[in-house]
Amino acid sequence: MNRDALTECLECGLLQRNPALPPGGTAVCVRCGNVLHRDRPDSINRTLALTIAGIVLFVIANAFPFLAFEMRGQETQTTLMTGVMDLWRGGNVFIAAVVFFTSVLAPGLQLVLLLVVLVPLMLERVPPWLPRLFRWVRTLTPWGMMDVFMVGILVSVVKLSEMATMVPGAALFAFGALILVLAGAQSALDPDQVWSRVPLARGPSKPPCAGDGHLACDVCELVMSRESALWDGRHLRCPRCTDVLHARKPRSLQHTWALVMAAIAFYIPANLLPIMTVTSLGQSQSDTILSGVIFLFEHGMWPLAVIVFIASIFVPMLKLLILLSLLLSVQLGWRWSPRERTRLYRITEAIGRWSMVDIYVVTILVALVRLGNLASVQAEAGAVYFCAVVMLTMLAAMSFDPRLIWDGLERKHV
Ligand SMILES: [Zn+2]
Ligand SMILES: [Zn+2]
Repeated sequence: MNRDALTECLECGLLQRNPALPPGGTAVCVRCGNVLHRDRPDSINRTLALTIAGIVLFVIANAFPFLAFEMRGQETQTTLMTGVMDLWRGGNVFIAAVVFFTSVLAPGLQLVLLLVVLVPLMLERVPPWLPRLFRWVRTLTPWGMMDVFMVGILVSVVKLSEMATMVPGAALFAFGALILVLAGAQSALDPDQVWSRVPLARGPSKPPCAGDGHLACDVCELVMSRESALWDGRHLRCPRCTDVLHARKPRSLQHTWALVMAAIAFYIPANLLPIMTVTSLGQSQSDTILSGVIFLFEHGMWPLAVIVFIASIFVPMLKLLILLSLLLSVQLGWRWSPRERTRLYRITEAIGRWSMVDIYVVTILVALVRLGNLASVQAEAGAVYFCAVVMLTMLAAMSFDPRLIWDGLERKHV
């Protein structure tokens, strides 16, 4: 297949030649160690096969109950959507919207978009809407959190096992298989094989000025001279994927500072206020994130206590500390190991989503335990703040441009 001759590393901004890759080979940035390209043999066909399997499993996982809760002869069942609907009816619109988006809409839409993009490519066609739809696949990827939801199911089952009998439903198995299929589709997909088939659009360009360098597209990674970018009267656009071109993410530092500060402000009530109230046989008990961890620990479920502690308390704090130190290091022009700082950035991007576990646990418990005075669960204000912290830190990591770490240092082109 044809890869672009040049590539700009999206993490350090170094312009470098794209090496020819052996089947299954990987190209790594010479400066920061970021993976630039990975050769995936027969990518389009394999991804398409996994996408079709994923859509079938997605329908089953959503159509049938994944868990049933039995207590004193009474039973409730829950599908993926019942948790969302119960939160919505209970007035927790924000959490309901976030849970719906991350556990149903984003993964479902991602599968449908992949199908719509890959079928024409398999038939050697490139319709004009294809680049835009494929851009959305990339935007949606970090927001699909079915794997995190699965951990949420596990924690919920253990929490409820003392109170009642839990019966796994048909959807639970489809759900487990779907997570594996989605991971397989993501690792089979080689975006270069899609982009290399999209022809470059022609259109008006901006007259060149003195000192114009090259531009690289953040989405399809096309490297071009400024004159070959499209000019729509307001923005320079990529001639391949039509995304707006920026040398760096616009106002990256301001946006990241604002999001980090908001996350820190919400982190305090998120930890102090209860996230849910469990009523069982007329007795109510409210739990904060920390008391939930202690509950698991005291009942001998320490592996889960460790998972929830890491996901809900350690990860958000670590993420905020890393983002703060990255922001300060860029603003104050620190020269301390840029490679390590880029690696720290990569960690914050990868771990942030796992903090959603507690929000999913609240959603599943609210949906399962609704037997009135006998047993019921309500989401509390702490969960709203905590959900906001997770979203804000994810957005902050996305708005930070790691190339700023390297901009202060001397540029060496290979
Ligand atoms: Zn790099
Ligand atoms: Zn592009």
